[in-house]
Amino acid sequence: MKTNKGDANVKIVTIKKSKSSGVHFILRSIFIFGCFFTTQVHAQNKNSEQLALQKIAPNLIIITTDGLRWQEVFGGVDTSIANQNKFNHGDSAYIAKKYGATNADERKKKLLPFLFSNTSLQNNSNSNVINNGNGKSIIVFGDRNTNNKAAVENPHWFSYPGYNELLTGYADPAINSNDYKPNPHSNLFAFLNKQNAYQGKVAAFGAWDAFDRILNEKVSGFPVINAFESITQVLSDPTSKMLGNLLTDSYKPFKEVECLDVFTHYQAMHYLKTKQPKAMFISYGETDEWAHHGNYSNYLDAANMVDKWIGDIWNWVQAMPGYKDNTYILLTTDHGRGFGSAWTDHGADVNGANATWFAIIGPPALNSNAKELFGKPLITNAQTNTIYQKQLAATMAKLLGIEFTADHPIGNPIY
Ligand SMILES: [Zn+2]
Repeated sequence: MKTNKGDANVKIVTIKKSKSSGVHFILRSIFIFGCFFTTQVHAQNKNSEQLALQKIAPNLIIITTDGLRWQEVFGGVDTSIANQNKFNHGDSAYIAKKYGATNADERKKKLLPFLFSNTSLQNNSNSNVINNGNGKSIIVFGDRNTNNKAAVENPHWFSYPGYNELLTGYADPAINSNDYKPNPHSNLFAFLNKQNAYQGKVAAFGAWDAFDRILNEKVSGFPVINAFESITQVLSDPTSKMLGNLLTDSYKPFKEVECLDVFTHYQAMHYLKTKQPKAMFISYGETDEWAHHGNYSNYLDAANMVDKWIGDIWNWVQAMPGYKDNTYILLTTDHGRGFGSAWTDHGADVNGANATWFAIIGPPALNSNAKELFGKPLITNAQTNTIYQKQLAATMAKLLGIEFTADHPIGNPIY
């Protein structure tokens, strides 16, 4: 279970009391008004400069689905798991009907149709680069059957260390518990929130209640809405109120620690449409929770639903001026899980639970940054032939045309 585990240019003018004459008073008033006016003009220039920057800067959405295995991402339903009574709970027919197919290619398209349908694999020596000609370019990486290896570098293989590695670019081994204190390391979103083009246009939504700490909401300076926190903390329209009420009164199979993904998704989606952030994090949790419960059909359904929602997000993006052909989505996970019957578990003692995967989705009309990413083999570690989770933050920043820097070491971009 998860539970185990540039300042404004404001000038302050102090006016000393004095026995000034009327003329002095008028002159002083003109002077003060002049200062005020100049400050206003500066502020307006800065504002319009910032607005212009915000218009053209690329947008970023990082999405995670907790602990979804690469085995299902690239192979679809695993029949050796689906056929066991203790995992199918007596309803293998449901799983077979919905996700069954004769080969891995068809099975993965049934499980994750947005990622894999209508796609053709390009010849690329080390990565699954896909152009589907359907309004998107995709890299899907981490299929160990074709020697694409993605992994967490941290030694723990559970959630907080994994999300820390992804979001800060630093696989700090000292972060060794899901109950770890507010993250001492700065993350990519906090960094973006300090850049002119992204300032005040950053938000995070997560199903799990640890994201307030993982993203250190108190020091990061952008809203982190997680678990049973309502969107009404930041929006007060009727839809937000309804979403908040539904969340509060919803079924709580994971108690107070984590809400069902549907609430996280619709709160995030409503925020995206209403506030139009330029950098956003959305984290879904059910894939991990149902795996720990040993419920394979719920695990598959959760993954299938996340795929559908990413399609919804992408379709909204591609219909919206400012986002269309100017938005990158990273989809990934925080850790892997065991092989075969050990699929329910993860952690340092579970063989294979360091293995991850990721997908990067970008516009079809590629700019120069994206051409490099989607057009060439990815750079893997020379010794291990692996791409590490700590490299994704700098990679996504590079796609935005920004170098991500912090007080800690950051993994290199993968292109
Ligand atoms: Zn877990």
